[in-house]
Amino acid sequence: MSATRAPANDNARPCPICGRPSVALVKPFCSKRCADIDLGRWLNGSYAIPAEEEDAGIAEDEGPVGQG
Ligand SMILES: [Zn+2]
Repeated sequence: MSATRAPANDNARPCPICGRPSVALVKPFCSKRCADIDLGRWLNGSYAIPAEEEDAGIAEDEGPVGQG
C-alpha cells in the first residue's frame, strides 16, 4: 500500500494568473506580481463585470403597487 502525501497546500487554490500554488500572504495569488497583474486587469477593464446596468434616468416606480 502506498500512501501519496498531498502537497503542503492542499486547501489552496492555484494562482488564477499563472496557475502556481497560491501563497497565504497574497491569496489567492502566488506572488505580489500576479496580484498586481490581476489588479491591472481590473483597472484596464479586461474583466467582464457581471452587473451591467445602464439605465438612464428611469423612474423608480415601474408600476402601480397596491399599498396596504
Ligand atoms: Zn501567479
